[in-house]
Amino acid sequence: MSADDAAGQAFETRVIHGGQQADPLTGAVVPPIYQVSTYKQDGVGGLRSGYEYSRSANPTRDALEANLASLEGGTRGLAFASGLAAEDTLLRALCRPGDHVVIPGDAYGGTYRLFARVLERWGLAWTAVAQQDIDAVRAAIRDETRVVWCETPTNPLLNVADIEVLAGIARDAGAKLVVDNTFASPALQRPIELGADIVVHSTTKYLGGHSDVVGGALVTADPELGETLGYHQNAMGAVAGAFDAWLVLRGIKTLAVRMDRHCDNAERIVAMLRTHDAVTEVRYPDTDDVARKQMSRYGGMVSFRVSGGEQHAVDICGRTRIFTLAESLGGVESLIEHPGRMTHASAAGSALEVPGDLVRLSVGIENADDLIADLRSALG
Ligand SMILES: *Cc1c(COP(=O)(O)O)cnc(C)c1O
Repeated sequence: MSADDAAGQAFETRVIHGGQQADPLTGAVVPPIYQVSTYKQDGVGGLRSGYEYSRSANPTRDALEANLASLEGGTRGLAFASGLAAEDTLLRALCRPGDHVVIPGDAYGGTYRLFARVLERWGLAWTAVAQQDIDAVRAAIRDETRVVWCETPTNPLLNVADIEVLAGIARDAGAKLVVDNTFASPALQRPIELGADIVVHSTTKYLGGHSDVVGGALVTADPELGETLGYHQNAMGAVAGAFDAWLVLRGIKTLAVRMDRHCDNAERIVAMLRTHDAVTEVRYPDTDDVARKQMSRYGGMVSFRVSGGEQHAVDICGRTRIFTLAESLGGVESLIEHPGRMTHASAAGSALEVPGDLVRLSVGIENADDLIADLRSALG
């Protein structure tokens, strides 16, 4: 199949074939790991292959980038060394000192730290608002607003923001709507189809899917914006290495089937938690009208609050046997964590602080009955 053949095809086909073709040299059915920095040139200024140096372009990374563009319905995908490297590159490409961005009231902790501790010193102002509150988003827009940054569902509270409405607000303000689609993945939600200008991923999570690689991505449908971002990817240099790009591409091939199982298992666990005496609140987007409109299913991330306060939440995190106590998410194995003391510790004392009695699960693809038994015993 040629790269273009996959364009009109269903998502389950595109994860495997989108942007891909057999290796032109050998017919290898998956792109080889081109572990190489430089490429022979046919005379000064005459490129043999279109490649000159692997920061600028590398065939393995190109294969991943074409696939990412296909999955998100964009024209250009770009792969980075981490999600935060992708975010930093994007913000410096779109903004200059003196500009302003609107960010989610409960952004991913590392994203919040990038704005509050790094880019603020560089001269980028920001306002954090709860993005399910559309009036609050509108009120936060200033003349200097260049970017509306959206994460939906959010981490760790799984709040949902209306991408279509935010796209309209950004457009009216002359700003770009950026959506961090890490939690949903393009299997469940495709922000570009809803009007977003740029999609951000930590490919470390569901796209990689096996907790064996750190990576990031940007995708846009606007060719001109794609050029600008590509220029900055090369100029700033935080690219994905060939082996990491290959691992992410390998992970993506099973994204559709993994996501089906993540959702099946999460739904079973949510049903159990909702009737458990020790659980005071379950955060899962299946009951949200906006989520129903813009997501096909609701993913593998589940958060819940427990009676007995912070200590009980911490104790539960230490008692599971199948759920591994660890940061990160989106892998085949189930993880549990305490956001207040782990992933979101850097937001303590800020507007983005999370409740102490909150536990976050990344539900894996193990047997659902085993997972439920493990949680039940940890809840006591
Ligand atoms: C992990 C994560 C990031 C940051 O990605 P890294 O690959 O860890 O740099 C950004 N946004 C969300 C929602 C994440 O979960």
